[in-house]
Amino acid sequence: MAIKLEKVTETFYLKLEEGKIMGRKCPKCGAVEFPPVYACNTCGNLETEWYEISGNAKMHSIVMPAALSSKPEYKALGKYAYGEIELEEGSRFNGVVRGMTKKKRKQLLEEGKLPVPVKAAIYQRDGYKTVVFDLVEE
Ligand SMILES: [Zn+2]
Repeated sequence: MAIKLEKVTETFYLKLEEGKIMGRKCPKCGAVEFPPVYACNTCGNLETEWYEISGNAKMHSIVMPAALSSKPEYKALGKYAYGEIELEEGSRFNGVVRGMTKKKRKQLLEEGKLPVPVKAAIYQRDGYKTVVFDLVEE
């Protein structure tokens, strides 16, 4: 099982290098798992397949990073926040959203704009790529 999990992570990062953001799709119930895991969390099926996600998503909650806990490696991201992301394929997880400021957050909350559309992007970190999200401006 441990070897299988390592392989999932490895393939995920290799695909990011190719510019593809991959999840795992369950052929039994159609649920998409992201970040990718082997077993389907919806129906428990152990046989899932690689599936390129569209990157279209919604941000349900906005948590501004505390100044003191800001990780130095995130500095290059510019303004960002954490939040609950829901992919159009259905997966929900916590992610990083760029372009979010305190002012923007306040405005979105006051105007009742949540969930707000976001789009996945591949971000180069020290030595490897990761997935972040960008606010989709209307
Ligand atoms: Zn399933």
